[in-house]
Amino acid sequence: MALLPLSEETLIDRYGPHLNYEPVGGWQSSGTPDRLVQTHCCFCGVQCGIQLKVRDEKVVGFEPWQDFPVNQGKLCPKGVKRYLQNNHPDRLLAPLVRTNDGFREAEWDEVLTKVVDNIRRIQQTYGKDAFALLGGASLTNEKAYLMGKFARVALGTANIDYNGRLCMVSAGAGNKMAFGIDRAANPWSDIPLAKCIIVTGSNVGECFPILTDYLWRARDNGAKLIVIDPRMTPVARTADLFLPVRPGRDSALMNGLLHVLVERNWIDHEFIAAHTVDFDRVREAVATYTPQHTANITGVPAANIIKAAEMWGEAQTSMLLHARGIEHHTKGVENVLSCINLVLATGRIGRPGCGYGTITGQGNGQGGREHGQRCNQLPGGRDIENPQHRQEIASFWGIAEQDLPQKGLTAVELFDAINEGKIKGLLSISFNPLVSLPNTALTQSALEKLEFYVAIEPFMSETARHADVVLAGSLQEEDEGTVTNGEGRVVRLRQSVKPPANARVDWHIIVEIAQRLGKGEFFPYGQAEDMFGELSRASSGGPIDYAGITYKRIEENKGVFWPCPTPEHPGTPRLFEGGKFMHPDGKARFHAIQYRPPAEEVDADYPIFMTSGRVVSQYLSGTQTRRIGPLVDQYPNPQVEIHPLLAQKLGIKSGDTVRVESRRGELTLPALVVKTIRPDTIFIPYHWPGERSANRVTNRVLDPISKIPEFKVCAVRVSKAQRGMQIADCGTQKAENLLSPNGREPGRK
Ligand code: SF4
Repeated sequence: MALLPLSEETLIDRYGPHLNYEPVGGWQSSGTPDRLVQTHCCFCGVQCGIQLKVRDEKVVGFEPWQDFPVNQGKLCPKGVKRYLQNNHPDRLLAPLVRTNDGFREAEWDEVLTKVVDNIRRIQQTYGKDAFALLGGASLTNEKAYLMGKFARVALGTANIDYNGRLCMVSAGAGNKMAFGIDRAANPWSDIPLAKCIIVTGSNVGECFPILTDYLWRARDNGAKLIVIDPRMTPVARTADLFLPVRPGRDSALMNGLLHVLVERNWIDHEFIAAHTVDFDRVREAVATYTPQHTANITGVPAANIIKAAEMWGEAQTSMLLHARGIEHHTKGVENVLSCINLVLATGRIGRPGCGYGTITGQGNGQGGREHGQRCNQLPGGRDIENPQHRQEIASFWGIAEQDLPQKGLTAVELFDAINEGKIKGLLSISFNPLVSLPNTALTQSALEKLEFYVAIEPFMSETARHADVVLAGSLQEEDEGTVTNGEGRVVRLRQSVKPPANARVDWHIIVEIAQRLGKGEFFPYGQAEDMFGELSRASSGGPIDYAGITYKRIEENKGVFWPCPTPEHPGTPRLFEGGKFMHPDGKARFHAIQYRPPAEEVDADYPIFMTSGRVVSQYLSGTQTRRIGPLVDQYPNPQVEIHPLLAQKLGIKSGDTVRVESRRGELTLPALVVKTIRPDTIFIPYHWPGERSANRVTNRVLDPISKIPEFKVCAVRVSKAQRGMQIADCGTQKAENLLSPNGREPGRK
């Protein structure tokens, strides 16, 4: 086998100079396709329906899918350009093995032998838990289930977690504690029926753009829209009331709103008495959160706190929606519970136009957290520490309960364990922690310490560059399966094209590794539908019950909402109808929350809050969207959003190079002076790697329950960069998306 070091020159030689830019077909390629495939967007949790145009076994464009009810043909900027990822010149076409000079292409037999030999060696030398797995919330339900079973049955390791640990877990934990179930309470079709809507910590217009349409339809129906955010996001600009909360003060604001509602007696005593537990403790907890006290904590004027409570209190129907803005905190779960308190206290849940929802960020943010790829979870949303749940799944899988590993480490903890030398081997799929984890330096040092690392990816991610073996996996459109969108609707992904050249479908790779480990009998799948059948049977009787869902039913109904326990059950678009919650006594739980500050407050040395988030044209760590030319053009590089008052104080103009420093690291980027942010706060989007990574400065400290890092608030100082200082990497888009000549950073063996 000839060595093929994939340096930038080699790739440009091989694929031409247009790396990272529109490779084929032009803008929505014209011409008659061979076929149109009804499937879904590969990006956010809205999971818009789309028809991919396929010609000559390549995805060459798209058509709207008008009949799919969630988006009715509409797509956002990412959705209309998603087809450009297929057939991209950066696509990995064969497995790669590290050499002294970089990587070379290899045959599957060689790489899989290497993977299995190293799994065996590490587990025999250091114990089973020394080999860890990291999955993703963009994986299909089938792959999420497979990853959990592969970890526990084929590898026998406790250490499996997923990148949803950086995304949805605070909401999941809060939902489970309050309602006994982890799912948004309502279908999105309830949003236009609400007369008051609170959107808190959610940049709907950029992160879930198609949901904006639901908010506007509600406003057309006379709804009042209240937006809570440190930034005046696009949807905040159309709100009736905007509350620019100081970063990290969300639970105080919710307590303040509830204080006013209690004081004005705008609470539903009957509902509280019949369907909930522990309201008295909450009433006591919010008693001190007078509007002025709340204003002092949150920076929101007392009069506007009262106004928001009046809008919510007087409405007949209402919905509260949140996303990562309140969840990415060391008290993310408490923030979520404080929102739920507001909804429960007013009894507005379980009815048309009344409810609550967390908007899922990743494509399968909901389903990815349901089927057992979390360290604390077994299929059907079961608890790995619950003896009965353990017995049910062990017996379903045909193994002894004592052979089922116990709870493992969460994603961030896994990297700490690698740094401490406790974990020696890693397999990751669709996870790019070098961009997405806080404190990049710690993540990098962990990757450099691994004895063996194998990554399954369709594109070479920044993290995969550190791997010993990179297995060319599949894009979303190259596999069959299902995902569950943010409202709990299970939808069907269709294979539009096969993986190119010598790349393989992800789950085929995982199953073959299991077979080579001598565990093939546990993974007898001929097609994705076989896995779905198994996961739905495994879920039967669990908290997340898919037992009545089949591919056929999903196709016939354009999605089925779980819980759906039997083939005759119609599915459950709206939860909690009739005030029936999922705790054993049927009642919802209030939780008394006392505000506590973020892990890192501003001080004389670091006097400015920093918060991070997304822009409309990019998605998560950017492995896909940074390769799609028109999306790159739309927002080529991260910028530091800074308010004019702060900019003036620091002598900064738009376009100036500024240095942002925290206790963990620094970065230099161009400034963008905007009036749409609090004067005490800066914002940096996080989609870029290396010197441009916002996570060089964010804080790795975790929520004690959900173990999510505090991405949304840390303390920084900002200064105008000295003359001659370069803006980090801003001209090296191509280089960052390629393998470095040596793949690894200096110092790695
Ligand atoms: Fe894709 Fe989400 Fe945009 Fe819909 S809203 S097109 S699912 S990124």
